[in-house]
Amino acid sequence: MRADLEMDKLEFLWIEGSDLSGQVQDTRCSEILRLEKKKIFCKGDQESFLANFDRDHLLQMYRQGQRWLCAEYRRADRSGHIRWVRHILYLTEEPVSRHIYLFVYMIWLDPAGRFRRVIRGDARRDPVSRVYDRKTIQWMAETLFSDRTNGNRAVAVLQASGLEKQPDGDGAGQMRYELAAGLSLVLGGGCLLGQYSPHQFVAVFPDVTEKEGLRRQLEEAVTALRRMLSPDPAYSSLRFITGVQVMPAAAAHYHSMLTQALQVCAFWWNAAADTVAFMQEREGWEWMQLQPDEDEGGISVHALKAGRPLSEQEKDVALDCVSTMLSARTLNASLLGVLQTIGLYYQADRVYTLMLVENRHAVIMTFEWTSGSKRSIQQVVSGIQLERFPLLNRCMQERAPVSLSRDLSGGEDTARQPWHFTVFPLIRESQQPVEGFLCIENARKSPADAALFGALIPFMLQQRERFGGGERPSAVTERLMGLPDLRAYLEALYTLTSQYYSSMGVVCLDIPGLSSHSGRRSSFESGSRMLWYVAHTLEELFGPALLFRTREAEFVVFYPNTTREVFLACCGRLRSILQRRYPKQVRIGRAWADGEFAGRCLVKKAQAAMHSETDLTEGAWVQAAGLKDGSAVSEAMHDGRFTVYYQPKINIRTGALSGVEALARGVGEDGAVIPPSQFIGYLEEAGTIRELDLFVLEQSLAQVEQWRSAGLGIVPVAVNLSRTTLAHSSTLASVLAIQSRYPEIPARALELEITERDSGLEASVFRSIAERFHACGLRLSLDDFGSQYANLALFTNVKFDTVKIDRSLIADVVSNPIAQTLVRDIVQICRTHHQNCVAEGVENPSQLDALLKMGCPYAQGYYFDRPMPAQVFAEKYLRGEIPLERQDAHKEDRI
Ligand code: C2E
Ligand code: MG
Ligand code: MG
Repeated sequence: MRADLEMDKLEFLWIEGSDLSGQVQDTRCSEILRLEKKKIFCKGDQESFLANFDRDHLLQMYRQGQRWLCAEYRRADRSGHIRWVRHILYLTEEPVSRHIYLFVYMIWLDPAGRFRRVIRGDARRDPVSRVYDRKTIQWMAETLFSDRTNGNRAVAVLQASGLEKQPDGDGAGQMRYELAAGLSLVLGGGCLLGQYSPHQFVAVFPDVTEKEGLRRQLEEAVTALRRMLSPDPAYSSLRFITGVQVMPAAAAHYHSMLTQALQVCAFWWNAAADTVAFMQEREGWEWMQLQPDEDEGGISVHALKAGRPLSEQEKDVALDCVSTMLSARTLNASLLGVLQTIGLYYQADRVYTLMLVENRHAVIMTFEWTSGSKRSIQQVVSGIQLERFPLLNRCMQERAPVSLSRDLSGGEDTARQPWHFTVFPLIRESQQPVEGFLCIENARKSPADAALFGALIPFMLQQRERFGGGERPSAVTERLMGLPDLRAYLEALYTLTSQYYSSMGVVCLDIPGLSSHSGRRSSFESGSRMLWYVAHTLEELFGPALLFRTREAEFVVFYPNTTREVFLACCGRLRSILQRRYPKQVRIGRAWADGEFAGRCLVKKAQAAMHSETDLTEGAWVQAAGLKDGSAVSEAMHDGRFTVYYQPKINIRTGALSGVEALARGVGEDGAVIPPSQFIGYLEEAGTIRELDLFVLEQSLAQVEQWRSAGLGIVPVAVNLSRTTLAHSSTLASVLAIQSRYPEIPARALELEITERDSGLEASVFRSIAERFHACGLRLSLDDFGSQYANLALFTNVKFDTVKIDRSLIADVVSNPIAQTLVRDIVQICRTHHQNCVAEGVENPSQLDALLKMGCPYAQGYYFDRPMPAQVFAEKYLRGEIPLERQDAHKEDRI
């Protein structure tokens, strides 16, 4: 619940996902707390509850700088059963009214009845953080884990790195208490939380169904915690590192799981951002941190001998590497090509080079290749002091390769796998110093040995000099001839399906003006150069494997097995690189899919997108405004380079105004209004659309609030969220935070419109996201339903509060019987499911007539009005003759 403590007024009450604010509007906050007290089981607890939750006490607590309070009680649930409950209170000041607000969260502990037998009122707690102390949590976990049936168990260590550096005293104590309270809120009642060390908490999960679910839960918890603590600058220097170990019930031992989780935290100690990592994903580079003479379970370290003649296969690999280096045109391409050849040949997890810096005291990772299953560790390893890596130290001192392996043959621990880790010193010639290291993790084929690398390393070290003098001129046409052509493309196309790949991105690109160039010799040369540049850029970004030149000036490239975000980021870079060099000369279209797909259809979709890109100035504004990254976007917002327009939604039976849709607009240098088609796609590709979406949300709520306080009524507003925004793990928290700044605007007056512009999230993932939004009282609307994109899966899987029928259907609704049937059915389905239904793009009275006959309640479109600035809207609608629909009128229209 949320309450204005100073006015003793309850504002919001949500219980298990339902908004009961309406029923308690006139109830005082202190009264609710008194009612709550009655449900508490023990007399003693009732007393302490009252003392804790007393309004004056809370106000005083706030004044003394305390923000959080956390307490556990036994309490009766709805059916009269006595269960443990955790109350978490959070106090904050509302910036405008400067009133103190109280947030109370109540969480049922142990919702699945998993740890009833270990929770006790008298369990020992840490004197500062008040969560279970180290011994108690250990006893609890051991007792729970002794039941070896059912499911999986998990132990997570949540480490607040940086907290250990806080000077001891009240400040550090308060931070520990607040962190514990925050964690016990964000982690929920399904796990037990204890203190391991002053800066480490341990969470015990007695019942985990799947690892990915747990990962999501922990990532979201950390994000939410970060957000809650963010107003206090003391927390911004902390990093939350979470190490997790999951085991099947039969193999779960608390002590070893805890040790492993702690190890994971130790490996990630240098991570640049909050990190959640699982033990099974041990990152390989940890071996560099082992003492070479440490005798840890089957590990042996030995120096490798050089001098063996190369095998035939190794000669091939060496030749591959050398020719990669010779034909590469950038240092990047050259060295990454070599690392990849090595990685693939040895079937390694990761191959990378570390260079010595800072007077040879630290290393940075210069180039890294990883197999598909491993993530990049470049951020983590770079900048670490050499002394932390005994293995590298030994390699440097002995000036010889060192290899470490763990052989587990016969070992009972099947979760662990044999490991090899090999480090080669990068030495140019025998008398010269070690410049860095080449590391190979987990070569499966045969442990890497020195013979091959002895031959390769001097070559690799020369590459830097070679590229120092800039790009090598090359025979442009010869390069292009090397690209697979239309025939190869047609042959490959049939294999590019979901049968072989888990996901696929496709980019189609053409250069429309190129053939007109080809008359004169000089333009032929510049055209060829441009073709080469485009081909080269595509290859650098998407790899050469599935790049085709399908026509003289048309390319198709496939980018399999990556996430949509990575693909979009590459597309964004492609666009900006080409735009910079050849502004307005290339057209690009893209498509992405996972689940079921066929390359052929994706190419069609990408081509359609490419052809529709007739206006090659698209994106020019984005370029001109320099909106490449998040900070640039925020800057542009502050500088007034974005604004919000409002388009009315009308109840077509009564003619009343039922709400507005907020639509983003860019503002050009000369004040010109830039339509969203010129920037939304770009910001989506660049990954910065979330900034804009949240900006529009904030602006429109501020606007609605301004209208409200001017006595113009509460105008329900719909804001568009891109799917990338929706999928971002902290969006929900951000939306709630923004919403909480406008306490006078009820939750039902805000709707979030989501469109399926591109198949991105799977419907099931979307559904769980939508459920979380719904649980927080937010309303969702399905935008552009019935457009060319297949959003039927969404329509059937997710319960939307509103469905907006796409304007392509409305355009045909008078003349096309199929469109008529579709629209009628959609209206009917919405009616049956109590969903609002809005027809988009109504442009003339005959469309309006048809919609009225079909019983569609709401419409939006140029027939009524175009999107307009806020003042114009207020004059015309709020101060004009058109009435504002009553909020409860929705219901009548839905039934
Ligand atoms: P949308 O959400 O479907 O918005 C409706 C679009 O249809 C608006 O285009 C509106 O001007 C246009 N429209 C309304 N009535 C008519 C009509 O009668 N005829 C025709 N031909 N068009 C009509 P707009 O403002 O250019 O926005 C285009 C799209 O850009 C929006 O489609 C929405 O998907 C996206 N967009 C706008 N603002 C934002 C934003 O803040 N965030 C995100 N993620 N997307 C946004
Ligand atoms: Mg919309
Ligand atoms: Mg729409």
